[in-house]
Amino acid sequence: MNSFNPNFKTLMGPGPSNIDPRVLGAMSRPIIGHLDPQFIELMDEIKALLRYAYQTENALTFPVSAPGSAGMETCFANLVEPGDEVLVCINGVFGGRMKENVIRCGGEAVIVEDAWGTPVSLDKVEEALKANPDVKILAFVHAETSTGVCSDAEALAILAHAHGCLTIMDCVTSLAGVPVMIDDWGIDAAYSGSQKCISCPPGLSPVTFSERAIEHIRKRNTPIQSWFLDLSLVMDYWSGDGARSYHHTAPINAMYALHESLLLLREEGLEAAWARHQTHHEALKAGLEKLGLSLLVEPAHRLPQMNSVLIPDALKPREAEIRKTLLAEHNLEIGAGLGALAGQIWRIGLMGFGASEENVRTCLNALEEVL
Ligand SMILES: *Cc1c(COP(=O)(O)O)cnc(C)c1O
Repeated sequence: MNSFNPNFKTLMGPGPSNIDPRVLGAMSRPIIGHLDPQFIELMDEIKALLRYAYQTENALTFPVSAPGSAGMETCFANLVEPGDEVLVCINGVFGGRMKENVIRCGGEAVIVEDAWGTPVSLDKVEEALKANPDVKILAFVHAETSTGVCSDAEALAILAHAHGCLTIMDCVTSLAGVPVMIDDWGIDAAYSGSQKCISCPPGLSPVTFSERAIEHIRKRNTPIQSWFLDLSLVMDYWSGDGARSYHHTAPINAMYALHESLLLLREEGLEAAWARHQTHHEALKAGLEKLGLSLLVEPAHRLPQMNSVLIPDALKPREAEIRKTLLAEHNLEIGAGLGALAGQIWRIGLMGFGASEENVRTCLNALEEVL
């Protein structure tokens, strides 16, 4: 065996996305102790940078030391108690995982379902909230990576608050790709991932909690069943003036990478980053149309960073082979369809550092040749 040396690949699937060399460089800097004063300074800067990315003043904003799925579990494990009713919107794979989380926390999931490829229906949610007055939390996925759909998070939060509910929002794929306005929208708990539009290695999950969410957690009657994800314990590590107590050992060099990628985001500016995703999405769409390919999602609900391409019937028998050829001969990774959309769509990501003219060209040229 030798050292592992993968060749460069253009990652245009549902994540991970390609990473700016500045971020990879940051990761290779000397390790320091996780309670070293310099590291604590870094933690404080990461929290401030995350508040910018999330557009929030929430004090409880930090990266969970594990991938996006752990951010999801952090939200549900802390906010849901046995017996609690939670309204879960399902319009793709990740809404289904929210339901699973509610059940595992001992909660009761009330489900609003919409067809894959369409956004969460506000009318159905309003009806369900009226029909189920005991619902305490509304949970939804802002950007469904399995379909490429963006739902109206602001309108959903307004409905939730009108019915006295808290909100849990999955913004793993939306953060830094399209507007995510935690405070303006009144979102109570949100989680994201490092490897999508933030363009950092996978393994960290930025989360943020409102004062209302923290109050809700304080009033719990039962202990949080997860020790690792219990916010009251984690926060002694991630905050506190002066003394910080050991909770777990943070993935130190991964935090260097997150810090650098968030710094890049702040240097570019959120608005510029959103506009860049939109520009390259439009270029990709125009090129795909020239190849005779169209998108699954209606224009009003499309995510620029996750393009679901309908596979023409004639190509369906060869769809897996086409992806294999793209990877083997063009070092290009695109995503397959998931669940109900397996074999029906390809998912082409333009996430973070990967939302570039170069990637759009690489993808269109490779597809043209292979098709
Ligand atoms: C990728 C993703 C997740 C899970 O993140 P991991 O880092 O893979 O655990 C959750 N929700 C959505 C919408 C995602 O796209």
